[in-house]
Parts: sequence; structure tokens; C-alpha cells
Amino acid sequence: TSWTRIFSRVFRTSYWISGLDVSGIILGIVVREYASLSHLHKQYFGFPGEILMRMLKLIILPLIISSMITGVAALDSEVSGKIGLRAVIYYFSTTIIAVILGIILVMTIKPGVSQEAEHIDRTGTTPNVTTVDTLLDLLRNMFPENLVQACFQQYKTKRKELEPMKVSVNTTTIPPLTTAIMAAVENITKDYKIIGSYSDGINVLGLIVFCVAFGLVIGKMGAKGRILLEFFDALNEATMKLVQIIMCYMPVGILFLIAAKIIEVEDWEIFRKMGLYMVTVLSGLAIHATICLPLIFFIIVRKNPFTFTLGMAQALVTALMISSSSATLPVTFRCAEENNRIDKRITRFVLPVGATINMDGTALYEAVAAIFIAQLNDFNLDVGQIVTISITATVASIGAAGVPNAGLVTMVIVLTAVGLPASDVTLIVAVDWLLDRFRTMINVLGDAYGAGIVQKLSKRELERMDLISDVDVANPF
Ligand code: ASP
Repeated sequence: TSWTRIFSRVFRTSYWISGLDVSGIILGIVVREYASLSHLHKQYFGFPGEILMRMLKLIILPLIISSMITGVAALDSEVSGKIGLRAVIYYFSTTIIAVILGIILVMTIKPGVSQEAEHIDRTGTTPNVTTVDTLLDLLRNMFPENLVQACFQQYKTKRKELEPMKVSVNTTTIPPLTTAIMAAVENITKDYKIIGSYSDGINVLGLIVFCVAFGLVIGKMGAKGRILLEFFDALNEATMKLVQIIMCYMPVGILFLIAAKIIEVEDWEIFRKMGLYMVTVLSGLAIHATICLPLIFFIIVRKNPFTFTLGMAQALVTALMISSSSATLPVTFRCAEENNRIDKRITRFVLPVGATINMDGTALYEAVAAIFIAQLNDFNLDVGQIVTISITATVASIGAAGVPNAGLVTMVIVLTAVGLPASDVTLIVAVDWLLDRFRTMINVLGDAYGAGIVQKLSKRELERMDLISDVDVANPF
């Protein structure tokens, strides 16, 4: 069948990619040991990797626009029923919980922070910018004033100290009250003035908000809207084909990205940091799978969540082996329906939609990775940037396809949104073959729990449907 073909293809791809990670590391070590490359040669050596990064960044814009607009517009027609709405609420809330959990862990474990005490502060903002300013900037960026500009710049408040007012009056002749008033005025004017300013980088947040609104409107427009929807649908299909082409180049790009990074490494502490980073992601995934999801399941369904997990074991192992939720889908179906006795009417909707948009593991991983990269760069994130990371990590997990390493492609969106160097994806590429497997497992588990929860919540609708079909069977005419 086509499923088994997809399954075996993805299976091979995932081994292919993990093999390349290891080869990249070996190539890097060999070149480092036996060839003393000049700075220029190192740059040439890293060139195939640089091209991969350029392609990934290039695809962000059409990817966000086409997938958000078509996704939102389609959701409106597919998820109109109560069952669909419940599933979507479940997807969003658990994804947000995963992101928050990831952020808490990475901020406490601090895997990317050096052990030495001294730090260079490389905050993107000027010192006079307050928390209120950054929150306002977040909102400003959500509502860009110019759509074209949003494709390459985002708003960033800067403040300039104002000169105290110069008063050229002979102070000896004026009465004390006037002097006091003048002193007060001088104090007030000794303030900071906002100079609106833009910084380089796609305003991802602004584009997302615009596309969601646009998609909702198109979805509700009826026949006229369908023309636009078809256009964006075609754009989405074309973009996905391009992504596929980039994925073909990915093995070469990844090999050289990793090798070039190994050649460059001067500070071996990076390995300690990478280890801690992996521990952070894995413990986040473990907490989400053994505490957060089971707790929600128990509160709503009132059944033993771990028996439920056990029922899904085969699907979880498959996901771990092939790192693809989409290719695991046939096994997920079987486990959910046969072992956990979930109604087919529920699984048929909740599982496939979940496999493409509900990725708790990916969302958690994206948030942790972005903050880890910020820590590596001594980049102090402000509140606005952390909120931006949570929103974009959620969106990036929704946008990631259920195939191996898809999270890496959408990772670039999160990094670009907060102005972090997208090329630092290189660092996490090296360990992605392992993390991808575990996060896919949590993605699949999240979908399965979702099916169980939605089934419980939709008991009444299902019974009504049964009643109708019973009546139909009893009185066929
Ligand atoms: N491999 C993941 C999945 O299929 C997606 C990702 O790369 O995070 O669920």
C-alpha cells in the first residue's frame, strides 16, 4: 500500500540523516586533525552549508504566508463541528503548556550559559528601553503598518535622552516660586524621547497575525473567497515542493554544516553545553509525557493514563524509530482503536489532523533550542522576546510537517523572529537525529491522548449519532 511505501521511505531517510550527522562530525574531526586550513579555506569548506541556510531562510516567507492562510481558512470549514472545535482547543492548550514547560526548564537549567561568571551583555535593546516598551513593541510588531516592510524589518523602540531645557533668564532677579517651577520643568524635560526605529529581520509575528486574519476572512467569504483560497492553496503546494527540493539538498548541507562547525570549535565547553541542552529537551519531553498529558487525561477522562500510554506502545516505538508522526499514523490508528478502544469517528479526525498540527514535542524543543542559542550568544532576552518565542514556537510546531527533521526547518522562523543568528541552527543540527526521535514520540502520544479526551467530551454527540444510525437501520425506508 502507499502507507507502507511512505513508511519505508521515511524509515530509510531518518537513518540516512542520522548517519550523515555522524559522518559530518567524523569529517570535521579528520579535517581538523590532518589539514591546517586557513581562515579563507575554512570559509570555502563551510560553503555548501551556507547555501543550505540561505535556502531555508529564503523559504520562510512563502511558507508562513501560504501555510497560515490556507490552514486557517480550511480549519474554518473542517472544524465547524463541536468535535473539531474541542480537538483544536486541546491541540492549542497542550502545545502552549509544552512551550511554557520548555521555557521554564531552559531558563532554570541554563544549558547555554558559560560557567565563568563574567558576561558580555549583548542585549538588542538600548538601556533606556523599559519592559513596557518591549511589550508595546510586541504589539506594534503584531500590527505592522506596512506589509512589505514587515517582510524584512521589525519595529524596535529606541530612546534618546532629551537635552534639558535651556533657560536664559537671569535667575537672581526672579522670585523663588518661578525658580522652583523652572527647576521642575527642567526635571520633566530631562526625559527620553522615543525614536521609532526598525531593525533587520522578518517581522514574523506581524505576518502571522495578518495571515491568520486574512485566512479567517477568506474562509468566511464563500464562493468569492474560494478563488483566493485556491490561489494560496496552489502557492502552498508549490512551496511544499520547494521545501521537498531543499530537503533533498539537506544531507549535503548538513554534512558540511556540521563538519565546518567542528573545524571552527575553539571552546570545547560547547560539548558540555550541548549535553546539558539535550538533557533539558529530553527532561522537558519526559515531564510532558509522564505528568502534564496524563494529568489532563486523568482529570477529564478519569481513567488510568498509563494504561492508555501502554496501549499506544507500538506507535510510540515506531515514532521513536522513524521520527515521523505522519508515517507512524497507521500504527497510531491501530493502537488507538484496537488497544484503547477509541471510536473510529473520533480517531479519523483527531489523529490525522493532530499528526500535522499538534506537535507538543516539537513546540517544546523549538522554545528550548531558541533560548539555548540566545544563551550561547550571551543575548539577553527581554519579556517581549520570550513571549515572541512562545508564540512563534507554537506556530512553528503547527507549521512543521510530520516528517523527520521538519522542526529544524521551522526553527529558523523562531530564531529570525527574535533576531538571533539563524546560522546557529548548525549547533543543534548535530544532535537533531536523536532529539527528533523523542519529540516525535511525544507528538504521537499527544495526538493519542487528544483522541481519548475528545471522545470523552463528545460522548453525547456520539450517542446521538448512534441513535440516528440505529433508527436508520431499524427503519431503512
Ligand atoms: N519529526 C517530527 C514529527 O514528525 C517533526 C519535527 O521535526 O519536529 O512529528
